[in-house]
Amino acid sequence: MSSGPHPRFDVLVLGGGIAGLEAALNLAEQNFSVAVVEKDATIGGKMIRLSKVFPTLDCSSCITTPKMAAASHHPNITILTYCELQTLTRQNGDLLAMIIQKPRYVSEEKCIGCRQCEYECPVLVPDAEQGGFAGRKAIRIPFSNAIPQKALIDPENCILCGRCAKACPTQAVNYYEQPEEFTLAAGAAVIATGFEMLPLEDKVQYGQAQIPNVITALQMERLLAPHGPYNRVLRPYDGKEPDNIAFIQCAGSRDQSMGVEYCSRVCCMYAVKQAMLLSGALPLADLTVYYMDIRAFGKGYEQFFQTAQAMGVNFIKGKAAYLDPGEDGAVKVRYESQEAGGGVRLAEHDLVVLSLGLLPGWNPEGRCALSTGGDNFIKTVKPKTAPTLTGLEGVFVAGAAAGPKDIVDSIAEAGAAAMEASRHLFSKQ
Ligand SMILES: Cc1cc2nc3c(=O)[nH]c(=O)nc-3n(C[C@H](O)[C@H](O)[C@H](O)COP(=O)(O)OP(=O)(O)OC[C@H]3O[C@@H](n4cnc5c(N)ncnc54)[C@H](O)[C@@H]3O)c2cc1C
Repeated sequence: MSSGPHPRFDVLVLGGGIAGLEAALNLAEQNFSVAVVEKDATIGGKMIRLSKVFPTLDCSSCITTPKMAAASHHPNITILTYCELQTLTRQNGDLLAMIIQKPRYVSEEKCIGCRQCEYECPVLVPDAEQGGFAGRKAIRIPFSNAIPQKALIDPENCILCGRCAKACPTQAVNYYEQPEEFTLAAGAAVIATGFEMLPLEDKVQYGQAQIPNVITALQMERLLAPHGPYNRVLRPYDGKEPDNIAFIQCAGSRDQSMGVEYCSRVCCMYAVKQAMLLSGALPLADLTVYYMDIRAFGKGYEQFFQTAQAMGVNFIKGKAAYLDPGEDGAVKVRYESQEAGGGVRLAEHDLVVLSLGLLPGWNPEGRCALSTGGDNFIKTVKPKTAPTLTGLEGVFVAGAAAGPKDIVDSIAEAGAAAMEASRHLFSKQ
């Protein structure tokens, strides 16, 4: 970083998921100074929240945590979490990023991550980090391998009882903290803002989150994760071990009624992965995947799919039309079969997992002049020959910010974006 009217970095990376961290590490290794701006209270993106990864079934946090640590310890990388980009403009050849630091109500400098505040806090609310299946305190560190290990208060649930402030050995709690605005200058930027999942509430035909044992694929990732809410797979409605689990593919993808006409690309493979992991966790359970087509596009993915079939996972070609609550927490699936005999059929399962569509993680409208495509993801101007180039000079895109993508492609694209950013910086010297 160099000083001036605003702190200046060679590259601003927006988003601290796997794509942003990979781009930042590539650039930092070439001796460029990098600021990673992350809106969440921790870096790591979706990958740190996954259980294992297809097609190798490696532990996801075992791969992500070292990358997060490497980025946070790198002398050329500055990590700014809990920060929102307000605007990104160009001035005298530099990019200027106006950023808001959201209040943690805990001083990042003073907090030593001891969690004394968390132990003392009397407020327990559902923890979104654990799919809502476990509780968390109103003051907390997001999760055990979050980076940074700094606490934050959720003002919506804090009752201002003062116990956290009393327990804090470094007087880090500050209930009066305000948002702070600051500006960074950079020679180039990599946009790595990733994706969000289509809200469960949006799909009327699938119960709009009102059917108790219908969960999202990200919630299933938490149930399967080693540090998950229950340490085993239980259904949320009654804590029963499910005997019969179904996956509904294309739940909101390739679906004009949801405005998501594209394929979300990763859902087939993560459903296959989750079914395989479940057959290990619950060897006696029946596992069914309702699918339109299985898109096993990557290296080793077709074999992965075939292994799941050989393990006894039942793949039914058919589109699930409606879900309804059944007896004792069961879920009724009405689907149109595309198999021999066809027709509308009814099945019942203990637990249903929706492979919801992927939506863009960030909308640049009103914040910077980046354009988006018909799918609302960041538009690339040379998708075949230079897939990380955006319409803005010196601004590149990596990972799921440009469209649904698996980890392998996100990492490859992050390397390409870092190379383009480095080339851009050299061309300006
Ligand atoms: C249920 C599920 C299971 C999956 N399993 C696998 C698997 O087994 N194998 C595999 O290869 N892929 C898997 N994937 C896909 C994988 O999650 C993605 O490939 C990967 O997360 C993409 O990384 P990313 O960094 O581009 O995006 P993300 O992981 O979404 O990270 C983006 C980051 O940017 C931040 N951000 C967003 N907007 C802003 C903003 N305005 N300012 C600052 N920061 C911002 C976000 O908070 C986030 O930290 C799975 C996906 C899902 C949904």
